[in-house]
Amino acid sequence: MLKGKVAVVTGGTRGIGYATVKKFLDNGASVVLCGSRKETVDKALEKLKAENSSYEVSGVWPDLGNYAEVEECFNQIKERLGKIDILVNNAGISAMGSIYDYKEKDFKKIMELNVEAVFNCSKAAAIHMREQKSGVILNTSSMVSLYGQASGCGYPASKFAVNGLTKSLARELGKDGIRVNAVAPGVTRTDMMDAVPESVIKPLIETIPLKKIGEPEDVANAFLFLASDMAAYVSGEILSVDGAAMS
Ligand code: NAD
Repeated sequence: MLKGKVAVVTGGTRGIGYATVKKFLDNGASVVLCGSRKETVDKALEKLKAENSSYEVSGVWPDLGNYAEVEECFNQIKERLGKIDILVNNAGISAMGSIYDYKEKDFKKIMELNVEAVFNCSKAAAIHMREQKSGVILNTSSMVSLYGQASGCGYPASKFAVNGLTKSLARELGKDGIRVNAVAPGVTRTDMMDAVPESVIKPLIETIPLKKIGEPEDVANAFLFLASDMAAYVSGEILSVDGAAMS
């Protein structure tokens, strides 16, 4: 479904991002995975190459909160691979906790990665996509972007902002041939869930009509559809992948 396409996936070293990188590779794309450190990027690349030595995959680790660094990195990708067709803004962090104990620096840290990095990467990629007159920008939102969360207000606030960027950039960039969509996962089995206490997860599962936690591959499948030409007339959409939790 993605033969000949060049994709960049942030937060591609594990969890939803890793599953998306693998899904894109299995569908013929050349993928640049982006992580926070060289060590974790190398480890992910090693794991992928062990699965299939013909995968066209490489890695980068720019500071996503620094626009100049992101722009330089994306320019190098364009130079090396000739184009950037797909960007998946997936890197993200979460934190629980009451607003009474919430530190200002922790709120800023969440906003820097979950929102500013999405802006930085989208801008740096869109510059190349506009030249190509085509491109797809995909964001990882969250089901909490639809109704908030009773603990850790920074995370849902950041994902409401991701939806805002998704809707706004879809409207702004359509004329340049660029589609922008988001996937809003529900509870998904990744390392991020380690930060969520069992006392929160258990009652959460009870509220999910499909009565189970999602897998990273469930989200990757949605990204594959939205990245492909099958979704050629889909833009500005926030696609829930949450077992009907929010339906
Ligand atoms: P994860 O913790 O397994 O992976 C997070 C990824 O982000 C990793 O690849 C990590 O390297 C990267 N990352 C973290 N800090 C970074 C930084 N400073 N710079 C660059 N990269 C950084 O989490 P996940 O569950 O796979 O989360 C991926 C996305 O899915 C996030 O945006 C998250 O908000 C979203 N999400 C997750 C769930 C869930 O239940 N797991 C639900 C809804 C949304």
